[in-house]
Amino acid sequence: MAEIIDGKKLAKKIRQELKEEVIKENLHPRLAVILVGDDEASKIYIRNKSRACEDVGIEFIEHILPTNTTMEELLELINKLNNDNEVSGILLQSPLPGHMNIKTAFETINPEKDVDGFNPINIGRLEMNEPAFVSCTPYGVIRMLEEYNIDIEGKTAVVIGRSNIVGKPLIQLLLNKNATVIVTHSRTKNLENYTRQADILVSAIGKAKYIKADMVKEGAVVIDVGINRIKGDVPGKKVLVGDTDYSEVSKKASYITPVPGGVGPMTIAMLMHNVVKAEKLKNK
Ligand code: NDP
Repeated sequence: MAEIIDGKKLAKKIRQELKEEVIKENLHPRLAVILVGDDEASKIYIRNKSRACEDVGIEFIEHILPTNTTMEELLELINKLNNDNEVSGILLQSPLPGHMNIKTAFETINPEKDVDGFNPINIGRLEMNEPAFVSCTPYGVIRMLEEYNIDIEGKTAVVIGRSNIVGKPLIQLLLNKNATVIVTHSRTKNLENYTRQADILVSAIGKAKYIKADMVKEGAVVIDVGINRIKGDVPGKKVLVGDTDYSEVSKKASYITPVPGGVGPMTIAMLMHNVVKAEKLKNK
C-alpha cells in the first residue's frame, strides 16, 4: 500500500515557516490580486488565497473590476501596481472576459512581481535553469517530492498533460532536477506504454479516475494534479476526485497524493512562498 503524500499537512508546515520568516525578518509582503468580472469559481479561489495570506501575514489587496473593463484599463492598473513599491506581488486571476488578451496582461506584469510565474521572462528563466518565479502547482509538486525525500535525479518521470500552467513548467522543473522526462498528451498513442515506464508519474489532464492500476509500474510515485467533480453517493452532491483511480492505484504505488488534500493545498502554499520571496527581492 502506498504512503500518502499529505499535501494538506505539508502546506500547513510551509505556511507556518513562512509566517515565522515574515515575523523574524520584519517583512511586509503585499499581494495585489486582480479579478475581472464575476466568475464564481474565481471568487472562491480568491477567497481561499486571501485566507492563506492572512494566515501567513501577507496583506491582500483586492482589485475587483467589472466585466466591461477595457484592456487599456486593465494594463493601466497592472502598470500602476508594477510601479507601486508597496506591492510585492501581482496575481491576475484567470479566466479574463472574452474581449481581453490574457497573454498581453501576463506579459505586462513586472517579472519581479510575477508570483504566478506566467510572464514569459520567468518561463524563459525556468527553461534556462536560472532563478525564476515558477508556476505554483508544478513548483508544489517538486516541493512535495523533495519534502518526502523522493529522488528525482536519474528517474524516469512521465508527465501527462502539457498545459502552460502545469504540464510544461513541470516538465522543465523535472528536467532541471535531472530526471529523464517523457511528455504525453491527448494525441499520445498507447499512453500506457509510457506511463508504465514511470518511476514518477504525474497526471494533469482533468479526467476523473482515468489512470488505472494497470497503467502504473509497481512501486511508482504517483502525483495526481487533476481536480474533477463527479456525482457522489449523496444525490445532488458532487465529490472531488483526481485523475487516478485512487483506491486501485494506491495498492500498487509506493507514494501517492490524494485528491483532495494533495497538490491543491500545495499550490496555495507555493503562492505564499512566491509572495514572500518577491518581497525579499524587492528589499534587496
Ligand atoms: P488543461 O485542460 O489546460 O490541459 C490538460 C492537458 O491534458 C492537455 O495537455 C491535454 O492534451 C492533456 N490531456 C487531456 N486528455 C488527455 C488524455 N486522455 N490523455 C493524455 N493527455 C490528455 O488543464 P490544466 O493543465 O489547467 O489542468 C489539468 C488538471 O489539473 C485539471 O483537472 C485541473 O483542474 C487541475 N489543476 C489542479 C491544480 C491544483 O492546484 N491541484 C491547479 C491547476 C490545475 P492536449 O495538450 O493535447 O490538449
